[in-house]
Amino acid sequence: MILLSYNSESFEYDAYALLTSFYPEAETKQCLSDAPTAAADELHIHASGDGEVLLLFKKGELFTRDVRYEFRAEQPGSHEWKWAFKLFLYDSLADYSGRSLPWGGLTGVRPTKLILGTAREQGLKEDALVSFMREHYRVSEAKARLGYRIAMLEDSLLTPFRDGGYSLYIGIPFCPSTCLYCSFLSYPIAAHQKKVDEYLGCVEKELAALPEIMGGEAPDTVYIGGGTPTALSAEELERLLEMLRTYVPLKGEGALAFRPGIGGLREFTVEAGRPDSITADKLRVMKKYGVDRISVNPQTFKDETLKLIGRHHTTEQLREAFGLARSEGFDNINMDLILGLPGESPADVEHTLACAEELSPDSLTVHSLAIKRASRMKEWIAQHGAISGMDYEHAMGMAQEAAARMNMQPYYLYRQKNMAGALENTGFAREGKYGLYNIIIMEEVQSIYAIGAGTVSKRVYTDGSGRIERCDTHKDLKLYLEGISEMIERKRKLFGRE
Ligand code: SF4
Repeated sequence: MILLSYNSESFEYDAYALLTSFYPEAETKQCLSDAPTAAADELHIHASGDGEVLLLFKKGELFTRDVRYEFRAEQPGSHEWKWAFKLFLYDSLADYSGRSLPWGGLTGVRPTKLILGTAREQGLKEDALVSFMREHYRVSEAKARLGYRIAMLEDSLLTPFRDGGYSLYIGIPFCPSTCLYCSFLSYPIAAHQKKVDEYLGCVEKELAALPEIMGGEAPDTVYIGGGTPTALSAEELERLLEMLRTYVPLKGEGALAFRPGIGGLREFTVEAGRPDSITADKLRVMKKYGVDRISVNPQTFKDETLKLIGRHHTTEQLREAFGLARSEGFDNINMDLILGLPGESPADVEHTLACAEELSPDSLTVHSLAIKRASRMKEWIAQHGAISGMDYEHAMGMAQEAAARMNMQPYYLYRQKNMAGALENTGFAREGKYGLYNIIIMEEVQSIYAIGAGTVSKRVYTDGSGRIERCDTHKDLKLYLEGISEMIERKRKLFGRE
């Protein structure tokens, strides 16, 4: 147990985020307290006196005490104040644990946004930027270089989207079964089949309102995710795609199908995801409506692990689904993999990468396992102990090498809280097969009109102010279905033309 106490809530977010980066699997308690308590926890951190003192206790004994930072010289709560505190805590935890973290004190989800912003503001080229990231944020050289490389590629890919516009996201919150690590909105479809029809009816209401709310403007990209959109039957999927054709404006005249390249749509993705939900008739429906990018996600090529993590499919099914998608003409297929799954060794990761290479997808998204509070994985760890003793950086290095052998380069990157090895998720792709929506949402360059339960719409202002406003929808399926009119009104308010 790790105890984190502080006498000001201004410490709360940063201290917790850093602590869980060092100890993602540990149980952590937080409390507001004027002084450290006498608890004999493994580690007790107390930040006090508006930030001028930080104390670390190991099993009740004082381990370190530091007053180096003169927080009072800064405006409490300011950016500088927070970074002074964060770096001090980072250095203290690095001393205590004898470890450093690949991304240093950075705990945000978008390091490439920070890197690009810093490089631009300060006019830094690669080497100078790497030195800056190391000195100011304690980022390792390898990660700073990776971040810089990705930020530059993203910057060029995002050029057509910087002047405004929007992308459309539709969330389908149903899956064949619930994965152990899942923290997304996902209802097992068999138990919720009765709700599917009503759900699609609500999605239709949202789509019908879109042309008026967006002033007839057409989206640049469309992404249908979830959940697993292909958990729907072929008929339900066709109903959904027909709605898009009916309601969503396209740029240009005479678009006969909702198809990228016709009417200016730059990308149309359906995250098929689970191999146990992919059939020939669903693939044909997607082709008919012009879907040009799909995912077929193994996560691992070890059947034993698939069973353990509650994915009701085998590696054989994955191969079949992938082959089927290729034979139906899909030439832009992404694969998601997760490093650090329970019980997996470096040899398992090597095997998974070799199998992925054999199938040769067009892009690969490599995730470091994130242990979310809301997932069943957290309970699993409480019962079974730590997940594996894997060297995650080495595993990520193996994935980078495999991607390079497939002629892919890293093109997007994001981080989540509680990631194994405090690493990152990286998207690799072959030239021309980049997932544009992924970069758009990560770098926040244009608005997102998001439809469905548990989704978040974002209005990105392009007036140079950097202003971003958001509105969400109910995560609870019942509340979403009952409150559909209000969900639409929230978007009307967000995107209302001034
Ligand atoms: S397929 Fe994705 S959304 Fe569905 S349960 Fe698994 S992790 Fe969650």
